[in-house]
Amino acid sequence: MDFKKCARCGCFFVSEDNVCCNCKAKDRFDSIKLQNYLEENSSPTSLEQISIETGISVKNLSRFDEVQKLDSYLNNNFSGTNISIEL
Ligand SMILES: [Zn+2]
Repeated sequence: MDFKKCARCGCFFVSEDNVCCNCKAKDRFDSIKLQNYLEENSSPTSLEQISIETGISVKNLSRFDEVQKLDSYLNNNFSGTNISIEL
């Protein structure tokens, strides 16, 4: 197994996951918070908005599957930013 750099705290660890064991619990907690938020707010307008209302940083949010599924939706609603999407 290779050493990986934790996507959350930056430490090196050996695991199949993207985050170290310390951050795994925090990730799970954030994930639950995010899911609860999305249940109540099915159409958030930006990652920043989700970040402010959940207290989860934009960097961490962008790693979650739920947000990656929202991405195309969010990008489509961002006419002000030029993001090219390669399909
Ligand atoms: Zn970590």
